[in-house]
Amino acid sequence: MNSDAEIAIVGAGLGGVVAGALLQQRGHNIRIYEQAPEFARLGAGINLGPNVMRILRAIGVEQSLLDRGLRAKSWISRDWDTGDVSYEYVMGDVAEARFGACYLVIHRGDFHQILIEALASGTIEFGKQMTELDQKGSVVRLGFEDGSWEEADIVIGADGINSRAREILLGPELPKYTGYVAHRSIIPASLLSGFDPADITKWWSDDAHDDTHMVVYYLDRHYKEIYFVTGVPEPDWESGLSYVDADPDELRAAFTGFHPEVQHLLEICSAVTKWPLLERDPLPVWSQGRIVLLGDACHPMKPHMGQGAAVAIEDAAILVRCLERQGEDFATAFKLYENSRKDRASLIQEHSRRNKWLRYPTDPDWVFGYDAMEEKLG
Ligand code: FAD
Repeated sequence: MNSDAEIAIVGAGLGGVVAGALLQQRGHNIRIYEQAPEFARLGAGINLGPNVMRILRAIGVEQSLLDRGLRAKSWISRDWDTGDVSYEYVMGDVAEARFGACYLVIHRGDFHQILIEALASGTIEFGKQMTELDQKGSVVRLGFEDGSWEEADIVIGADGINSRAREILLGPELPKYTGYVAHRSIIPASLLSGFDPADITKWWSDDAHDDTHMVVYYLDRHYKEIYFVTGVPEPDWESGLSYVDADPDELRAAFTGFHPEVQHLLEICSAVTKWPLLERDPLPVWSQGRIVLLGDACHPMKPHMGQGAAVAIEDAAILVRCLERQGEDFATAFKLYENSRKDRASLIQEHSRRNKWLRYPTDPDWVFGYDAMEEKLG
């Protein structure tokens, strides 16, 4: 692709920022338009598998991530009541030797901040909510809530679960509520008093508990903060697409009878947020003309494999490679990108929905071994 092309990215989330960093690294002119008035540090953790760490190495942030996050030694799956271990997947040096990169857990705010620092300063324009996309000839015009307009040669819609870019391409359709919520809470590890959780533990329930589960992990290499994220059935959700503050007592009730280690975490947590888990069916197309989508804008999924952001970041890497290969032939580049990504994204969506990942002995090579920087395109 000609490095004079003007590329607009809508959304400075995890996928949009990585796409921007990869394009900038290759000398392209990019602008990222973000609706939030400023960077917001979301109070949550995130898992980054080797498949995503290799891409993050390519944009030069691997060391900063290792300095902040925890290179997990293993993933442990335990039964909800007895605490029996149903599977331990050893990571650490073993995973690194196999996949050429580690499995990292980190505060999502730290991760996002480190990604933003990979961009040239001033690349992101905050407070710019895109409302219109108007394609005319070889130009796309972007209209914003504040009444302003910008132009670009191509637009990457990385605007997340409630993507306006998706809506402009495919018409209005709300994401589907899955009947599950996730509670998230960060707790100072100093409050653990006697309990010594593993680097990452997933507590799995039985059929009588409708898939209620909790994933617990540390957020930093100094083991100062521990985090949990749940999956809990809740038939109706009427609070929009974002999170609400959760009632800790209601949360404790959902985990009645769970192992003492789970009960202890629920006792010591104070601020808890509750998020609706949303999905979409695979989209019929991922691009139209000079507009293309990536990440949650195309394939939001339940978070039960810890791969939603990873798939968005893989999309970014493959999209940039397709643009590099096809030059100014954007339509072919976008088709090649969709053909390269759709099956994998849909498969991970499906496995995330099933929520069985790493519960029992699992071969994770197809997920962690995927190398978006090298994978054959198309
Ligand atoms: P986002 O990161 O959501 O970014 C979209 C951006 O676009 C936002 O900044 C938004 O403000 C902006 N935007 C939206 N509309 C507009 C507009 N009109 N104009 C301008 N800007 C706009 N994934 C993992 O890989 N590992 C995990 O451990 C993990 N845990 C999760 C736990 C939970 C409970 C949930 C709900 C998700 C989890 N995920 C995880 C999934 C992950 O958070 C998402 O898949 C990921 O953030 C998607 O990245 P994205 O760039 O597509 O969208």
